[in-house]
Amino acid sequence: MTDIKKRLVSIKNTIDTAENTAHRPHGSVELLAVSKTWPAQALRQANQAGQRLFGENYIQEALKKISDLADLDIEWHFIGPIQSNKTRDIAAHFDWVQSLDRAKIAQRLAKQRPENMPDLNVCIQVNIDDESSKSGITSTELFSFAHEINQIDRLVLRGLMIIPTKTEHAKQQLLAFKKAHCLFEKLTEQYPTVDTLSMGMSSDMILAIEEGSSMVRIGTALFGERTTGRVNYTQIT
Ligand SMILES: *Cc1c(COP(=O)(O)O)cnc(C)c1O
Repeated sequence: MTDIKKRLVSIKNTIDTAENTAHRPHGSVELLAVSKTWPAQALRQANQAGQRLFGENYIQEALKKISDLADLDIEWHFIGPIQSNKTRDIAAHFDWVQSLDRAKIAQRLAKQRPENMPDLNVCIQVNIDDESSKSGITSTELFSFAHEINQIDRLVLRGLMIIPTKTEHAKQQLLAFKKAHCLFEKLTEQYPTVDTLSMGMSSDMILAIEEGSSMVRIGTALFGERTTGRVNYTQIT
């Protein structure tokens, strides 16, 4: 077995166990493999080991991998900050955008979505800790923003994505997850298409699942530690 396959098996076990502990149905939490900085070959290995959902943060890097891996059955999620001059490429090559936090970007993505592709799935990124430095809309803006997004043709509102502030305080982290889950529940009551709460990363996936996450985004635990460079062609070949 490759290292990636071993780690994938182990992450899936962790997810299963956390689902059990939380009395949630088996299979209620999806795994998004976050592959930023890793070369196409690493993603290919993960795909051969059964992984289908991949998340990328940087458009240029992603486009190269999407084209290299065009022979595989992969669902691509864009999870990074979105510049307006990049929306055309995102709209043409991704199945999901999880980092939506501006109406102008949403309009562009919708307008630029190619006619022959299915509607684009979107999650709203919520700045759950209300940090001024971070992307994402505040929880007070969420419901009017969701209303706006929901009216845009070619976009399907699927849920929320959150990235809580890194903290050693378990209690603060727990509060952020609980708050996100509460907002998500309210959103599901209003919009039948909403089914995704994207929260939890390598270091906090168990807690996130216990608090209602339906999709964990895992990079490091699957591919290894990232070095600072964007693409790491030497580490896995
Ligand atoms: C990099 C990244 C992840 C994965 O983080 P790990 O700690 O490596 O698991 C998840 N979500 C987003 C938005 C990211 O940018």
